[in-house]
Amino acid sequence: MRTRTKPLLRVWEWQAEAACRGMDSSVFFSPAGERGRARLRREEAARAVCGSCPVSGPCGRFALTSQQSYGVWGGFTEAERRSTVRVNRK
Ligand code: SF4
Repeated sequence: MRTRTKPLLRVWEWQAEAACRGMDSSVFFSPAGERGRARLRREEAARAVCGSCPVSGPCGRFALTSQQSYGVWGGFTEAERRSTVRVNRK
């Protein structure tokens, strides 16, 4: 019998190489009420980490395909991912 699901380890194995591994998730995810410059500063700090990450491609693809609503993944903010999805729907 064939199954369409991937083994769980293969779905997540790229995370073993993540530059953000062990970091505080508050760098990548917005605290409640965060706005304006504080948000931009946090997102830039997250992008800087992603910029040196060897698995930014798989990370960004995972966030897009699994429709992650929040956080910086693969160097892309949630607003950028929403924008990418809208463009691809046209
Ligand atoms: S691309 Fe960024 S969020 Fe994704 S694993 Fe690497 S450091 Fe973490």
